[in-house]
Amino acid sequence: MLIRENVPLAPLTTIGVGGPARYFLEARTAAEVAEGVSFSRRQQLALFVLGGGSNLVVSDRGWPGLVVKIAISGLEQRAENRRAIFEVGAGEEWDKFVAKAVAHGCAGIECLSGIPGSVGGTPVQNVGAYGQEVAETIESVLAFDTRDDQVRELCNEACSFRYRTSIFNTSERGRFIILRVTYCLEPGGEPQVEYADIKRYFTGWSEKPTLAETRDAVRKIRASKAMLISPGDDDSRSAGSFFKNPIVSPEQYQELSARAAARNLTIPNYPALDRLKKISAAWLVEHSGFSKGFGHGRVGISRKHALAIVNRGGATASEIVAFEEEIQRRVEDIWGIRLEPEPVFVGF
Ligand SMILES: Cc1cc2nc3c(=O)[nH]c(=O)nc-3n(C[C@H](O)[C@H](O)[C@H](O)COP(=O)(O)OP(=O)(O)OC[C@H]3O[C@@H](n4cnc5c(N)ncnc54)[C@H](O)[C@@H]3O)c2cc1C
Repeated sequence: MLIRENVPLAPLTTIGVGGPARYFLEARTAAEVAEGVSFSRRQQLALFVLGGGSNLVVSDRGWPGLVVKIAISGLEQRAENRRAIFEVGAGEEWDKFVAKAVAHGCAGIECLSGIPGSVGGTPVQNVGAYGQEVAETIESVLAFDTRDDQVRELCNEACSFRYRTSIFNTSERGRFIILRVTYCLEPGGEPQVEYADIKRYFTGWSEKPTLAETRDAVRKIRASKAMLISPGDDDSRSAGSFFKNPIVSPEQYQELSARAAARNLTIPNYPALDRLKKISAAWLVEHSGFSKGFGHGRVGISRKHALAIVNRGGATASEIVAFEEEIQRRVEDIWGIRLEPEPVFVGF
């Protein structure tokens, strides 16, 4: 086990801000994860588990304890009851796995193409996009339980997946270190082409798109919104969507509609959001004076996506957080709704 000291974390995140980890371990096996946990306990160090760093804002001071970067590899596929079961190491790159599943003709995660980060990161906030979320295909999660140092297999129900949440980022936050995720996909299944953007992309096609064409469409749509990490596209130096779509009560919705009417505006209806009684955080941000491309110096809103806060180069975590708070304050003043951030804040 090689524990390094004062390792910069900014380059290990997609938004690229923040200070170093006091101690840093890259864990390639479950045994190394266990060693890391026991080291942090012996040294009384706070432990942070790092995946692909695509949903994080690390503070400028960094992390005072031990960071364990999960680098467990491996991908095994087997057939079971006409389903394709994939057991994937938590350290594998998510999009590589999606590419492999699509190449093998297995449906269920094609709309999640192009999401950055690791396989182990996907159950944490129940990653979702374009009408799919991993909760629909995760069969189980193998995790190291830091409560009693046992390795446990958690079934789908035990993970309590909801919109952008699971036990891993709510009730049991910090307890489990995910080692492997098992997905159950449909061999020969049809791609899901339900989300408006994807339907629009395929307008005029005479034949049904294949899984590979759907993956390609999703990646192109994402790239047009800088939601695909592309070298050279500085709008993709972000942590993805910075705010969750708020879920509102009927009373809040009425209040919001009244505020919109007073401004000669109408709250937009998106079937995918309506179903979950969510409203568009992007709309709220844009109608609070923060248009795409708006910014202060080294921090701004992506030119292609109103929900992405972007590091324009050399930004600090404090600048990102100050900008986030400015947006939250203005949206709350105008619309009476407090936007909740989506990324995880580390070391604040
Ligand atoms: C350009 C861009 C686009 C994005 N688009 C989407 C999108 O469409 N939909 C969506 O849902 N998300 C999106 N995201 C957010 C992000 O990619 C996902 O949340 C991703 O799953 C995070 O995984 P990660 O490995 O990078 O986790 P990290 O950012 O490293 O960590 C995130 C959290 O998960 C925990 N964690 C990570 N790995 C493990 C593990 N093995 N065991 C226990 N805890 C762990 C960390 O401790 C932390 O709390 C986007 C991000 C970017 C930058």
